[in-house]
Amino acid sequence: MILTRAMAVLLAATLMLAQPVRAATFLRDADMEYALGQLAAPILSAAGLSPSQVQIVVLDDNSLNAFVADARHIFLHSGLIMKVESAAALQAVIAHEAAHIANGHITRRLGNMRSARSAAGMGMLLALATGLAGADPSVAAGIAFESQSSAQRRLFSHTRAEESSADIASVRYLKRAGLDPQGAVEVIKIFAGQVSLSESRLDPYAVTHPLSRDRLRALEALAVSAGPGKRSPEGEYWFARARGKLSAFKRAPSWTLRRSGSVPYKDVRLMQEAVAWHRQSNLKKALAAIDGAIATRPGDPFLLDLKGQILLESRQFGPAVQVYEAAASRAPREPLILGGLGRARLAAGDPRGALQALEAARGRDFSDPGVLRDLGVTYAKLGNNAMASLATAERYALLGRLEDAELHARRASDQLPRGSAPWQRAQDVLSAAQQAKRR
Ligand SMILES: [Zn+2]
Repeated sequence: MILTRAMAVLLAATLMLAQPVRAATFLRDADMEYALGQLAAPILSAAGLSPSQVQIVVLDDNSLNAFVADARHIFLHSGLIMKVESAAALQAVIAHEAAHIANGHITRRLGNMRSARSAAGMGMLLALATGLAGADPSVAAGIAFESQSSAQRRLFSHTRAEESSADIASVRYLKRAGLDPQGAVEVIKIFAGQVSLSESRLDPYAVTHPLSRDRLRALEALAVSAGPGKRSPEGEYWFARARGKLSAFKRAPSWTLRRSGSVPYKDVRLMQEAVAWHRQSNLKKALAAIDGAIATRPGDPFLLDLKGQILLESRQFGPAVQVYEAAASRAPREPLILGGLGRARLAAGDPRGALQALEAARGRDFSDPGVLRDLGVTYAKLGNNAMASLATAERYALLGRLEDAELHARRASDQLPRGSAPWQRAQDVLSAAQQAKRR
């Protein structure tokens, strides 16, 4: 599990904020993201959205919230994933957010930001970094989710009419996907207890998604008329796995070890124990647990990914490379696993092998500052100073440090063949840095 203090990356909305915002932290983990993707896929399909086009993104925040800010990402706070008690409830949250996307509630509001959104790839990232840097360079890495900010309320808050239409649509999607609509009632009840609280103590969800007794009653009626759905065994498994991984990294290892006996899936229980022992620096027990999990689900790339992480962080570089290679061969398109493989090869003294894995990771996810950091080190070790400067420039740009980014982009630009693809990437950083200065 990786914490990425990432920048606005995904959110064109941040461009509109003039005030400093709290930086949000993305929780990146291949296993958790895959499990959430499995939970979301049937709902997204039922909503007429493409599961491969909409990503579930987890923010490291204990408060209860879920929201959308564009048409391609559904954001869940880690606190919400830990709070809900069934796959059906989490799928109801996803269905509600999918409805906001499918009904165009956010994109309509962001219509006047089309120009920012049309910029592709890195260009978009940099445009966003620039937008934030204009406010305050020290918080340029922040994402605009300060829950109390009035700007967020304006942008991300939904009207009662939008809430009602999203509730109706979400029950329809759940039904269409063959899932249990009662999950929606479970979720709304978690939040309904909050309605009477003073606004300062409300969870952000209640601020962005207006709640009322009427809404609860309407939703209950919808769920009843939809009839009982069936609980999905696969859904319950992936929910246990996503929440299990999150919880093992978020809660005290002693808590995890005390409770793991109640987890109904042997591989999930052993995976959680492996994380707990690893966090207690007990390599022997961590390896015994993760090997037990792998024996239960042989060839699962995400369990191998965790074993690679445990070995790498315990400085067992050679074995870490072997395990990451096995993981990457089973999940060759997973950028987080490719990034881990690159990091392990770099630590094991194989910069050429590292370069191949890290470039593959960057090609699939250009917004991971950790991969760019490792790429910078790798290119420097290989004596390619121009590409080292480019990776460093892009990493600084992602972190919103545009003056540093400009310095390194200038260095890269001077050495790279004019007109080449890397040279063009350096120009993107330079123009973003110059835009930031003009603001
Ligand atoms: Zn809503």
